[in-house]
Amino acid sequence: MTRTAADILQQLHADDVRFLRLQFSDILGSVKNIEVPASQFEKALSGDVMFDGSAVQGFTRIEESDMLLRPDLSTFLVLPPFSAAEGERGRVARLICDVYLPDGTPFEGDPRFVLRRQVERAARMGFEFYCGPEPEFFLFERAANGDSTTVTHDKAGYFDLAPIDRGERIRREITNKLVEMGFEIEAAHHEVAPGQHEIDFRYADALKTADNIATFKFAVKRVALEYGLLASFLPKPVAGINGSGMHCHLSLFRNGQNAFYDERAEYGLSLTALHFIGGLLEHAPGLVAVTNPLVNSYKRLVPGFEAPINVAWSTSNRSAMIRVPAKRGNSTRAEFRLPDPSCNPYLALAVMLAAGLDGIEEKMEPPPAIQRNIYKMTVREKRHHRIRELPANLSEALEALERDEVMRETLGEHVLSNFVQAKRAEWVAYSAAVHQWELDQYLDLV
Ligand code: ADP
Ligand code: MG
Ligand code: MG
Ligand code: MG
Ligand code: MG
Repeated sequence: MTRTAADILQQLHADDVRFLRLQFSDILGSVKNIEVPASQFEKALSGDVMFDGSAVQGFTRIEESDMLLRPDLSTFLVLPPFSAAEGERGRVARLICDVYLPDGTPFEGDPRFVLRRQVERAARMGFEFYCGPEPEFFLFERAANGDSTTVTHDKAGYFDLAPIDRGERIRREITNKLVEMGFEIEAAHHEVAPGQHEIDFRYADALKTADNIATFKFAVKRVALEYGLLASFLPKPVAGINGSGMHCHLSLFRNGQNAFYDERAEYGLSLTALHFIGGLLEHAPGLVAVTNPLVNSYKRLVPGFEAPINVAWSTSNRSAMIRVPAKRGNSTRAEFRLPDPSCNPYLALAVMLAAGLDGIEEKMEPPPAIQRNIYKMTVREKRHHRIRELPANLSEALEALERDEVMRETLGEHVLSNFVQAKRAEWVAYSAAVHQWELDQYLDLV
């Protein structure tokens, strides 16, 4: 749907919208917004709103800090009120923006621009790239004083139907709100762990999906807050139970046809699909710092909780990093099970796409598909099947990222150096902290 600025201006007035949020994302994936009142709507729509980039994580430039927000008009949305009080204060609309320098060039530190570059590269190769994400999250209780806890309020398990918990009601409220915001929800269900939920929305092109993920996280947190709960996308909030991932179903289309499908080939998968999978496997160690960017992310990537720990693919087994679901025809896709929902969705989609395209350009053949449970394999069996391990923690992941030329080029020097610097600082702070586990393990012992 292409909309003009005049259209949008008219709708803003017709809907009595009082504030317009101009949104963009910092390098770590936090959504930033600059809110303008009605008197500034025209200026905002024509892309003339300036902001001071030096106040934004990873945006700092020594030379100039003034930046422009150019709204992507296709992202226009009048937000539903999230509470009765909000409803009375007048409506709010949002536009997601690209960040530009005053001289009219795109800002290389804008994650949306990093993704755009890969989408354009795919287009030059004749492909459109699609992604359907499955973000998981926990709903936790808040203490009487409002503080966050990791206490879940339900005892339900995977796909439980019994109306035993508040979580289910709130999940339904979240789903309703997302539908009001234009999401096409395909499924919403309880996950394996107590208090854990998943809401799947329909796949779309990469930019739209990254925008959707950012909007999704905001909406889930906002509705939970309204019910006095905390919605958290932390990958492993509670040890010993499943963590939260964000599987990404990935496919390429060419001329309206799924380019991963080949009726006559083994598994029904085209060479394009195999090479794309080959590229994802090749670059998985180098891209995991981006798709799994927290110290905590690596506590999800341990054996036994349906999260991948090895670089392998399968057409059936959910212990592998890439699974090819059984659907064929236009639904043919690779499910990349590595990412978690704490990632910057723009950068994560950019590195996944870049890895897959590199696989296609370099004709990377993946090793044979593994159909067995990899958690149960011995080290020797894994070596025999050419199954590599992923970096064990954030520090190793950052080293692997810096060694991967394709990933460096994908992020660009500005994003790479700011990302690595911020993440190294996190690792240093974490390493210097004394954790409860150490006290439990050693305090009395030595
Ligand atoms: P799982 O079996 O892993 O739980 P789901 O059925 O919950 O998978 O999720 C499927 C996801 O895949 C949805 O987001 C759906 O829109 C998406 N999807 C379907 N077809 C395609 C496609 N061709 N390319 C990318 N994603 C797709
Ligand atoms: Mg699902
Ligand atoms: Mg699922
Ligand atoms: Mg799930
Ligand atoms: Mg899945």
